[in-house]
Amino acid sequence: MKPALVVGNWKMHGTRSDAVKLATGALEASRRNRRVEVVLAPPFTALAAVAAALRRGAVKLAAQNLHWEAEGAFTGEISPQMLRDLGCRYVIVGHSERRRLFGESDATVAKKVGAALSAGLRPILCLGETLGERRRGRTNGVIARQLRVALKGLSKGAIKKITVAYEPVWAIGTGKNATLEQIATVHRFVRGLLRRRAGRGAQAYRILYGGSVRPDNAAELAAEPGVDGVLVGGASLKVDAFASIVRSFGARAV
Ligand code: PEP
Repeated sequence: MKPALVVGNWKMHGTRSDAVKLATGALEASRRNRRVEVVLAPPFTALAAVAAALRRGAVKLAAQNLHWEAEGAFTGEISPQMLRDLGCRYVIVGHSERRRLFGESDATVAKKVGAALSAGLRPILCLGETLGERRRGRTNGVIARQLRVALKGLSKGAIKKITVAYEPVWAIGTGKNATLEQIATVHRFVRGLLRRRAGRGAQAYRILYGGSVRPDNAAELAAEPGVDGVLVGGASLKVDAFASIVRSFGARAV
């Protein structure tokens, strides 16, 4: 059985000392819940401090974004190799905030996924529909397009290194939750697409849910068989809330 994956995305929050406090709390939660893989995605400015804080433990480091080139005249950008150098194992790619606020297209997301994989980083690929798209019955079409473009040209082996996070845009940071049925339906759909693209081993993939995950809804998400973990934004900025979410996944029947 694959361990559940709980990822904290701190977005643009906190100083290095805030980050070290959160990382120390996450380490403690991880030690008490060894069946859960815990990953933290601090802002770039705190990656080195968090890497040092995580040195003696199983919590892994992620970046929130990357550029697809290894180096060059790209002011303000950070390459996959630089992230590896800082100790990152994972990288979030295609978060809806990047797509919506910073103009990332499916094509740039695909370049980032490819570059991450080539550098030995595991992409956490975010997919999700807006409320308007859901209301117009376009959820599956949007998810299928985002996934198809992101995986274009990748080998089956490369695809197996990707973790997909289903994050309905309307549920991120809004306090609105997708229902378990909505989540299960999309996760089944994504798993089917992955299986078609990369073979039966797709059962081994972890598909995460993200969107207003909190301590009070984590247990029911953990009990949903198709939910292999969660990507947590706001609640990952509080030590106790994040620890409680990790605990819910640690307590789920395997
Ligand atoms: C996210 O940042 O990916 C996220 C899901 O945020 P929140 O948990 O705050 O909705």
